[in-house]
Amino acid sequence: MTETPQEALEQAALAGIHRLSIPTPFAVGRVNCYLIEDEPLTLVDTGPNSGKALDELQRQLGERDHAIDELDLVILTHQHIDHLGLVEIVVEHSGAAVAAIGVAAERLANFGEDAEREDEFAVDLMLRNGIPPEVAHALQSVSRSFRGWGAHAQVTRPLDDGEVIEFGDRRLTALHRPGHSPSDTIFWDEERQILIAADHLIGHISSNPLIARPLDGSDRREQALVTYIESLKKTREMPADFVLSGHGEPITDHVALIDERLAKTERRREKIHGLIAERPRSGYEIAQAIWGNVAVTQAFLTLSEVIGHADLLVNEGRVREVDDGEVIRYEATG
Ligand SMILES: [Zn+2]
Repeated sequence: MTETPQEALEQAALAGIHRLSIPTPFAVGRVNCYLIEDEPLTLVDTGPNSGKALDELQRQLGERDHAIDELDLVILTHQHIDHLGLVEIVVEHSGAAVAAIGVAAERLANFGEDAEREDEFAVDLMLRNGIPPEVAHALQSVSRSFRGWGAHAQVTRPLDDGEVIEFGDRRLTALHRPGHSPSDTIFWDEERQILIAADHLIGHISSNPLIARPLDGSDRREQALVTYIESLKKTREMPADFVLSGHGEPITDHVALIDERLAKTERRREKIHGLIAERPRSGYEIAQAIWGNVAVTQAFLTLSEVIGHADLLVNEGRVREVDDGEVIRYEATG
């Protein structure tokens, strides 16, 4: 059993998997991409679309005596731009194939239009949950200003859930684990018991189940946290020695970490239930009661958290949504 994150990185390196730490302009800090030295030579995620990220990617590949143009395959773990923004440039230089969960391929190909529609969906959701219009529109501008860090991705190797990618020296099973985003996919080396989980599971921060449009391209509002909990429970059952994440250090006890995340979800659900039991409140009012000013500066993130936990309460029959035609409020039942 691998005991420490450092040992996990060493074990991964022995297995030909090398972490590349690529800068991003986002609050999350650096993103982890993974070079897999095998046939095909593979990069898991690329980092965002920026000169700085490209320089770092080149430099860190160079440290392993590789270059971008040698890459044969790029695997994408999910749709977020900090993970895939460089994919077009990497493919231009290398001609690499691009593998990603097939159900996300159309969305990934239509990046610009799709991102615009995603932002409109987010604004609508914020307004319906009581966030003031000026806050919702300010966030939309911020999101637009970050769009240059993303890119289209032409998926040439669409993966089915459970499909095995064969390498010269290993097999990786692609498993769809939506929740943090609708396209989250993890890659499992059963023989070595190494799990590449990207943002599905992160050690030092919880992976926010952000509310996003479903992969079918519709504007349906899905229950992201409910989906995420189902996904986490599946991952909990996996006999992983360690987990390689999309940010930060490897995880050597994923069961304990997942239990901690699930316990936190229960505590937060109860706190939100308490607030709703006091009086009916909108999602924004609940977020303000919990996070104060952060509910303004991080309005979409905190609203996603509130709605996710309120969904749990609604599904349990403890809370109902009351829609006055403008704003949705939650009120306790019974
Ligand atoms: Zn992400």
